[in-house]
Amino acid sequence: MYAAAFSYHRAASLQEAVKLLQDLGDDARIIAGGQSLIPLMKMRMTRPAALIDINFIPGLSEIQNSKGELRFGALARHADIEDSSVASAIPIVHDCATGIADVQVRNQGTIGGSLAEADPSGDWGTALLALDTTVVCFGPGGRHTVPFEAFIKDAYTTVLAHDEIVTAVHVKMPPKGSGGAHLAFKRSAPVYPTVSASVQLTLEDHNTCKDVRVILGCVGLTAIRAKEAEAAVRGKSLSEKNIQAASEAARAAAEPQSDMRGSAEYKRALVATLVKRAIAIAARRARGEHAEAGHEYVGR
Ligand SMILES: Cc1cc2nc3c(=O)[nH]c(=O)nc-3n(C[C@H](O)[C@H](O)[C@H](O)COP(=O)(O)OP(=O)(O)OC[C@H]3O[C@@H](n4cnc5c(N)ncnc54)[C@H](O)[C@@H]3O)c2cc1C
Repeated sequence: MYAAAFSYHRAASLQEAVKLLQDLGDDARIIAGGQSLIPLMKMRMTRPAALIDINFIPGLSEIQNSKGELRFGALARHADIEDSSVASAIPIVHDCATGIADVQVRNQGTIGGSLAEADPSGDWGTALLALDTTVVCFGPGGRHTVPFEAFIKDAYTTVLAHDEIVTAVHVKMPPKGSGGAHLAFKRSAPVYPTVSASVQLTLEDHNTCKDVRVILGCVGLTAIRAKEAEAAVRGKSLSEKNIQAASEAARAAAEPQSDMRGSAEYKRALVATLVKRAIAIAARRARGEHAEAGHEYVGR
């Protein structure tokens, strides 16, 4: 089906985009990669009267390592991040970018659009919560920053006002001795994961977990920080017993719904398995070992 009719506006600057959002009113929407918005428009699940294209605003696609942070312009495409040697400084970021959907979606979809969409199954919302992440926004009052923990309020809902735009995403470089992993379990490439899990941890003496974050994706209205799972390993050795306790606590923290991707029980079992694997991979990476992580498909 074709999308309902809409007017198209190409913004040349952030100021112009904000002015267009204000002038065109509540039925106007920003378009970035279009990989969430266009399918919804074609299914007539959303009918914006106007689209404001931010793709021609200069300076929104950069990926930089600056002042102890990785800085992504809102228009950095998943594929740009996947291919970026700068972004690979934080392996969990590379894990996340590399398996989102298929190559077509990755070539168009943007990190800023993903966070603004706040899809509970989106990979960035899970991976970036495992790190110290800040979202840079621009609105009528100028530029301001929001800690990522406070940015997504609910499924498909962020703190952004109608006339505000995400301009960048800043991720603090993890301290020395840290490692992370993002794992997503999917039925096939061009679909969202059934369950995902991100773990970022810091080791002391190669086996004591000094600090850790455990985040669960696709099993709640927003990504879930599994604090009981973190407590099961924080300040302790990464023994099999402690990792098992963390994976069981993560299973209990999940709030999955049964749907076409699987039953709630199946998803809980996946949570436990992915968290266990993610902790093990994160720990190996923290020790400087090479370990693969990313998106896994049923039957592979
Ligand atoms: C077949 C398919 C499979 C997919 N699978 C996955 C997957 O496995 N994992 C995953 O994470 N994602 C997946 N996606 C989604 C994809 O990652 C999208 O790129 C992403 O959700 C939205 O980014 P976008 O740039 O395309 O945003 P758009 O579609 O352009 O916009 C999405 C929403 O965000 C708003 N918006 C966009 N940019 C900004 C901005 N800078 N400031 C404020 N508001 C903004 C728009 O107004 C709109 O409401 C999939 C998409 C498709 C089509």
